[in-house]
Amino acid sequence: MKIGVLALQGAFREHIETLHKLGMEAVEVRLPEQLEGLDGLIIPGGESTAIGKLAVKYGLQEAIRRFVELGKPVYGTCAGMILISKDVGRDQPLLGMMDVKVERNAFGRQLDSFETDLPFPALGDDPFPAIFIRAPRIESVGDGVEVLAALPDGTPVAARQGNMLITAFHPELSEDPRLHRYFLSMIEEDTAKS
Ligand code: GLN
Repeated sequence: MKIGVLALQGAFREHIETLHKLGMEAVEVRLPEQLEGLDGLIIPGGESTAIGKLAVKYGLQEAIRRFVELGKPVYGTCAGMILISKDVGRDQPLLGMMDVKVERNAFGRQLDSFETDLPFPALGDDPFPAIFIRAPRIESVGDGVEVLAALPDGTPVAARQGNMLITAFHPELSEDPRLHRYFLSMIEEDTAKS
């Protein structure tokens, strides 16, 4: 199994390190042809406007859409979640694939960054140590979207729609590899199908 991490800007190295720790082959993706032969793709956190503009410039927007339409799993964290979403309430280049509306920088200045033990039933009984950095939140989800985790006030911060996974926080900055493992299980499901 070979996983790509979009490496235009942001926290891509940390994702690659986490995947290596899990014994996976992980490669940086900067050009459309580098998607060939990959089994899944992670879109990291960073600055969604910068990543989106670079994705357009390098022809990656269409290439990633095709990759996901073929059924290949994609996982967006933080800025990556923003890019995967269909609606972010403003005009910026997006991949626009998942039926969710998100709000950028949703936690205000006081709560710029925070860590919380997040109940995440799909990962088991232990909460996930979720690190939020100028994070977005999910405002609303469409019919086919399953919310996987929410903050105590009910704000959804992780969701899945078929082969697409999003989290508002940065799992690659925690020592806990369960979300990367969860993503790998999505890839295994996909490979079992084909
Ligand atoms: N605030 C960033 C944005 O709106 C996302 C921050 C992050 O990825 N940690 O793009």
